[in-house]
Amino acid sequence: MPEVLILRSADEARALLAAFAPLPGEEVKFSEADGRVLVTAVVAGEDLPPWARSAMDGYAVRARDTGGASANPVVLKLRGHVSMGESWAGPPPLPGEALAVPTGAAVPEGYDAVVMVEHTRPRSAGEVEIKRTVAPGENLIRAGDDFRRGDTLVPAGRRLRPVDLGALAALGVATVSVHRRPRVAILSTGNELVAPEKTPGPGQVRDANAWILAAQARRSDCDVVLGGIVGDDAAALASRSAELLERADVLLLSGGSSIGVRDLTAGALDTLGAETLFHGVNVKPGRPTLLARLGDKPLLGMPGVPATAAIIFDAFVRPLLFRLGGEAARDPWPCRRRARLARPVPSVKGREDYIRVRLDERRAHAEPLAGGGALATLMRADGLLLIPADSEGVGEGAEVEIFLPS
Ligand code: AMP
Ligand code: MG
Repeated sequence: MPEVLILRSADEARALLAAFAPLPGEEVKFSEADGRVLVTAVVAGEDLPPWARSAMDGYAVRARDTGGASANPVVLKLRGHVSMGESWAGPPPLPGEALAVPTGAAVPEGYDAVVMVEHTRPRSAGEVEIKRTVAPGENLIRAGDDFRRGDTLVPAGRRLRPVDLGALAALGVATVSVHRRPRVAILSTGNELVAPEKTPGPGQVRDANAWILAAQARRSDCDVVLGGIVGDDAAALASRSAELLERADVLLLSGGSSIGVRDLTAGALDTLGAETLFHGVNVKPGRPTLLARLGDKPLLGMPGVPATAAIIFDAFVRPLLFRLGGEAARDPWPCRRRARLARPVPSVKGREDYIRVRLDERRAHAEPLAGGGALATLMRADGLLLIPADSEGVGEGAEVEIFLPS
């Protein structure tokens, strides 16, 4: 184990995290695919709608037969009526002929517009008076208006929404290939930790991190495997980690990720045969963060201080989980506010800082909160201000962007 942490820049850490490949796909029924991420684009196998249809209750006409009708109504010969769910079997229209069509009914070849019923008047049997001129295509939905055969119906990488399921149903797509939902195993480490339902003895604390990380992972569209608590015991840590990795795609360990005598994560992961990709990131908070890989699977050692673990999750782990789930381009900070900084925040060049801030939304002010603390400051914060590695700080009154938690 190293004597000191060899710090990677935050960008280097992100690049190493970005090297993990998305999880493989599985075939699921279209009806069960809501919220799943498509591996491959779905291509329309037919036109939608498959035939031209009327957008209005009214009369299908040849648009040119309605010329001048807005000034002097014209009378057309009524050829018949198209019923819903049926197609018109009659011959194509002759000049001056119309066909009654309800909304959504198939409009046969030869008719190129529909006159709304409001702009007509029935005459003696077999005739209808048209009081409005229509242009070709008016009130008519053409075949393929939504999708043409061969169009991309839903692109790869898309998290399917309810309306996408409608499109899959409408085009008769029976199954789709979607990324497996990432399964995230969570393990808390430390001799001092006890489960939340226990009363801590002297020197003991309740495990908070498992519940923060589990909730964060679930909000990141992942499933969670709760791994419980393991003491500062390298062998136990290694065997529990191995066990959990059998059941999960990622392992998040919290606590023990630094280089003190009780910090056994790095050593235990070595024992497992995992390759360490980085141990130490030039980020505040969260310097002693580590990333290893065992086979295809990432293992993250996260600092034990709960607020730090939570921030490291937001900043580094969530983008990894999105990537594993097939959404490499998904914005990990979809919710942002612009504000002016109420107080200057200094920073060290080379280090990426995450500053907890309170937002005064009315005045669009962001107030940096003093003090780290295990939980309270992050709980009081409305969001985080990111100070990039190349910056030496942000001055009072500067316009900044605040990331709100998801
Ligand atoms: P460590 O990263 O193991 O050095 O832990 C740093 C601090 O975080 C110590 O005060 C630990 O007791 C605390 N800590 C570690 N893991 C947890 C946890 N799961 N829940 C709450 N506090 C923790
Ligand atoms: Mg510890």
